[in-house]
Amino acid sequence: MSGFQFPSPIPNTLESRQANRHAVVLGGSIAGLLAARVLLDHFDRVTLLERDQFPMQPASRPGVPQGQHVHGLLLQGQQILEQLFPGLVEDLIEAGAISLDWIADWKFFSMEGWLEQHASGLRGICCSRLLLEWYLRQRLLDNDRFHLQPGCSAQGLVFESQPTPRVTGVMLRTAVETSDKPSIAADLVVDATGRHSKLPQWLAALGYEKPPETQVNSFLGYASRWYRRPNDAVAQGVIIASKPGECKRGGVIYPVEGNCWIVTLSGIAGDHPPSDEAGFMEFAQSLRHPMLYDLLQTAEPCSAIHCYRRTENQWRHYEQLLAMPRGVVALGDAVCCFNPIYGQGMTAAALGAITLKQCLQDNQTRPQSHWEKHFQGQLAKALNTPWLMATGEDFRWSTTEGKRPGWVARQLQGYFDRILQLSLTSAETHRAFIQVAHLVKPPTVLFKPAILWQALTQ
Ligand SMILES: Cc1cc2nc3c(=O)[nH]c(=O)nc-3n(C[C@H](O)[C@H](O)[C@H](O)COP(=O)(O)OP(=O)(O)OC[C@H]3O[C@@H](n4cnc5c(N)ncnc54)[C@H](O)[C@@H]3O)c2cc1C
Repeated sequence: MSGFQFPSPIPNTLESRQANRHAVVLGGSIAGLLAARVLLDHFDRVTLLERDQFPMQPASRPGVPQGQHVHGLLLQGQQILEQLFPGLVEDLIEAGAISLDWIADWKFFSMEGWLEQHASGLRGICCSRLLLEWYLRQRLLDNDRFHLQPGCSAQGLVFESQPTPRVTGVMLRTAVETSDKPSIAADLVVDATGRHSKLPQWLAALGYEKPPETQVNSFLGYASRWYRRPNDAVAQGVIIASKPGECKRGGVIYPVEGNCWIVTLSGIAGDHPPSDEAGFMEFAQSLRHPMLYDLLQTAEPCSAIHCYRRTENQWRHYEQLLAMPRGVVALGDAVCCFNPIYGQGMTAAALGAITLKQCLQDNQTRPQSHWEKHFQGQLAKALNTPWLMATGEDFRWSTTEGKRPGWVARQLQGYFDRILQLSLTSAETHRAFIQVAHLVKPPTVLFKPAILWQALTQ
């Protein structure tokens, strides 16, 4: 990777020039990196603070334990990433990512059976999360207004109550111990510290309410292992879905850089895949279709088996807070994290970044008294569809805990079952289904007359 060239530098011009403005991003994972990219267009300096040290090459690190598991990038996310980092798709393919047609090149054994396959032009890149994060970081480091501070943990907010209650910096703990409490000054602080964000507690310490939280938990667990892709294996993905009432288990083969497969097995309602070799293979053999297990027999494992269990959907509703100080916003998993099986997390982080970009631009043309609050409201609107999709699917399982959706949502679930049945044979319906699942089209496209007619009559 070290000789890899980045053909398309991030533009080094500001969309607005406001002297000496400094933004500080907390958390150097996908959401933090995307936020930093957006802030470079609006602030003179952007500093990203990350608790971990960063590896020189694409590799795991403790702050992102999910790094070894399959990370599908939805088409909506890919489009936003390409917009923020022009040339990204091409660069990642050059670095070994696999370009697949999401319909032609995926064998998808859905709840209803095998979905039809056709060349759809809906092409996505498949690579590990490790490569993607490393790539985004390198692109940002190309810009001399971007400063990365690894080994630096955010511990709280610096706050001024006069003239307007405002966050003016971040308190830190660095790898080097000092007697005084270090801090860094900021005109804007962006919290991207993920699921375990301490922002609610930091706000409470300043006398603010904590955001209300919603949780929906289907008790899903993952176990993942990397394999060398056999030389004669076609570059394709495989998904074997679980099915309520029949089998709680599912699996995916995800082709990535270095001629590897990431194989992730999942089990819902506490039926989790084990981390020992024999147990992993037995679990793979127990899926609803033998294809994944048969393919594993032909491939050589090249990693340990990694498990992950904290998968509940969790939404911190900052948009519902009556009061929030100026100078701080939150995005990514720090606001909303999803059951990972639907592959929405990185795309939700991208939606957060693009919403931040829009709000900063709007604030330039029409300054708002509290644009940060406006941002949290806009972000909540953007997150609503993926949230309803993820939690709606999770509530198919009677064992899922959380506030159940109402009658209308339950009826819609029945309609979506019909869509899946039609996707076994209808190219048009399958295409619409994939576009909705990838968040590039709203769910309403599934109700357009041609599809509705098929759903009601076939
Ligand atoms: C098992 C699993 C599989 C997944 N699969 C997919 C998938 O297929 N597709 C998809 O799009 N998404 C997937 N996701 C979700 C995805 O990983 C996240 O949504 C995405 O990484 C964005 O997260 P984030 O950047 O907000 O937070 P995180 O990735 O959690 O990163 C938070 C960062 O903040 C740092 N940090 C934490 N506290 C501090 C502090 N006090 N000071 C400084 N730094 C701090 C951490 O070290 C870390 O680097 C999956 C998640 C899991 C758990």
